[in-house]
Amino acid sequence: MTSREPGFETRAIHTGQDPDPATGSVVPPVHLSTTYRQSAVGRHQGFEYSRSGNPTRRSLESQLASLEGARFGFAFASGLAAEDAVLRAMLGPTDHLILNTDAYGGTFRLVDRVHAPAGVAYNVADAADPPSLQRAWREQTRLVWVETPSNPLLSIVDIRALADFTHAQGARLVVDNTFATPYLQNPLSLGADVVVHSTTKYLGGHSDVLGGFVAVDDSPLAERIAFLQNATGAVPGPLDCYLVQRGVKTLAVRMDRHCRNAAAVASFLGQHPRVSRVLYPGLPGHPGHEAASRQMRDFGGMVSFLHAGGEEAAVEMVSLTRVFTLAESLGAVESLIEHPARMTHASAAGSPLAVEPNLVRLSVGLELVDDLLADLDQALDR
Ligand code: PLP
Repeated sequence: MTSREPGFETRAIHTGQDPDPATGSVVPPVHLSTTYRQSAVGRHQGFEYSRSGNPTRRSLESQLASLEGARFGFAFASGLAAEDAVLRAMLGPTDHLILNTDAYGGTFRLVDRVHAPAGVAYNVADAADPPSLQRAWREQTRLVWVETPSNPLLSIVDIRALADFTHAQGARLVVDNTFATPYLQNPLSLGADVVVHSTTKYLGGHSDVLGGFVAVDDSPLAERIAFLQNATGAVPGPLDCYLVQRGVKTLAVRMDRHCRNAAAVASFLGQHPRVSRVLYPGLPGHPGHEAASRQMRDFGGMVSFLHAGGEEAAVEMVSLTRVFTLAESLGAVESLIEHPARMTHASAAGSPLAVEPNLVRLSVGLELVDDLLADLDQALDR
């Protein structure tokens, strides 16, 4: 029998998580110590101080790197802390970045209000449309940054085509894989240079921990990110690492059900008279459906839609659901509903990333799907 690499589900449960050699405990202990004994100056067992390295964090990093098919992985205190490290590692003053037209409002704010004032130039382009990218391109363009599926419009970028285009022009591609998760899509295998995650979402999976993650294959870039992780110190605590790692063990089964429930919700909304448009890459009419079918295992658990009654009807409707909770964030077991223009994407108001005022975003959870459909129906009908 030829040996092959264990599958995704097996790696999610075992990689970086061997039983503790000291006690045999099947769940590795959470290492709370901030500092490590040295037998002589500089002589230690691989850890000195918890900001520069912690066994629980390392365990999470090797688990997630394996799932992304990456050589190196770095855990951060939040998705935005991970993004900040990538931007610092890859861009200097006078460098130029292209951001996709649809992205998390906090990512836009980080670029626009933190990195742009420090000298990084940027503009916004539709990364799925080569002429739009060409127009945005500058001699100093070093980085293209996309989410696919994107937040909140669920737009899809063909990662392989974009990586080829970006590399041909001498720049690099970052993919925020938060919506897809490594279970549904591995951007590095499609040519991306960097993957970022908000582990706060599907990876943690239970709305009880904040975190971020960066995966890369390139050694010099990995060294730079490791340096920044320690030098700026936005690291997750060991208990947070433990919670993310525990969530990831069930990622595959959760994602299968998220996808199934979301597909049912998308098809229900598509037939509802109070809904003017459904945004879900699993629908054959979605402009990114073919690319998503090629590069994703399934279409994910996020669904957005435009309320036919306009802004006020959308704002009212999101407060009328009983199973869907009105709240920011996404990717956990419970279903959430929100109004992006006034909530998650308020920081993009007035920018090219501003969203339609009648847009509603759903994070479809793991409840019984009939209860989810009945809840949306009663909220839309009132
Ligand atoms: N990327 C995406 C796609 C997100 O949706 C979010 C948060 O909603 C982030 C990054 C930022 O992550 P965090 O909230 O963990 O800082």
